[in-house]
Amino acid sequence: MTDISLTYFIKRATNESKPLSQIFMEEESRETGQSITVLKKRMADRIQIMRESLEKGLATPQHSRSGYITGGAFQLLQYSEQGRSLLSANFTKLLAYAMAVPEVNACMGRIVAAPTAGSCGVLPAVLLSIARKQKMPDAVLIPAFFTAGGIGMIIEKKATISGAQGGCQAEIGSASAMAAGALVEMAGGTPEQSDHAVAFALKNLMGLICDPVGGLVEIPCVKRNALGAMNAVAAAEMALAGLTSLFTADQVIETMGKVGKRLPEEFRETAQGGLASLPRPVKLHREPPSSGRDSI
Ligand code: SF4
Repeated sequence: MTDISLTYFIKRATNESKPLSQIFMEEESRETGQSITVLKKRMADRIQIMRESLEKGLATPQHSRSGYITGGAFQLLQYSEQGRSLLSANFTKLLAYAMAVPEVNACMGRIVAAPTAGSCGVLPAVLLSIARKQKMPDAVLIPAFFTAGGIGMIIEKKATISGAQGGCQAEIGSASAMAAGALVEMAGGTPEQSDHAVAFALKNLMGLICDPVGGLVEIPCVKRNALGAMNAVAAAEMALAGLTSLFTADQVIETMGKVGKRLPEEFRETAQGGLASLPRPVKLHREPPSSGRDSI
């Protein structure tokens, strides 16, 4: 592949009157030599793993060995089901969903690290919960994951998706941008609107540092997945409403990469700066609440 810009893929999709996902699938098929049918089947298998980890994190309070993770996703889901959400139950559920998978990860459960283990909650929360709410079939959902993957590949090649290299903007920011671009396609938006959504999502999280407390992917990581999910939905809604970004997604991605390179080392996963530099209180392991389940 010669051109790795999102602009290139968007032009191709527009010129060929195809969704962005189709262009990404064709490209992956060409590069790997696998048929699109095989690639889709593999993606469906990964989505199934995401569903299982999501179910697990919502059905049972997750408790990590450190004592930092104490069933937050489960608790948030219960709160929403009690009708206590300030905005809407769906919004609160989105946050719970986004926390569920990284909580399972923190408890050594099986997850799909997309794009990374630290940011593994954003894509399942956004794409699976909205597909479910809007009753979208897998025929819509599976291609959307290819769009997300294609956007992630471009970010990785043009900048970074690693917290150690670019701070949390590169992990949660990338996950959020991938989800935003894919969500636009799922909702029937144009490839160009996906570009705006990616730009919005990444701009909103520009400069976010990586400061995992104790070097564990728990605090602030799990709740930052909730931030990444709601930012993705906000970015997609703005793009679908016709709002446009002054800068292209490619420009924002490159800028994020440059900002990441200039972040001091203490803010790049070394657990030396930010929240990781605070003295830590001893956490008590709480007993889990007894019930609650939400199927995906
Ligand atoms: S704080 Fe660091 S380890 Fe945690 S999610 Fe962000 S980039 Fe990943």
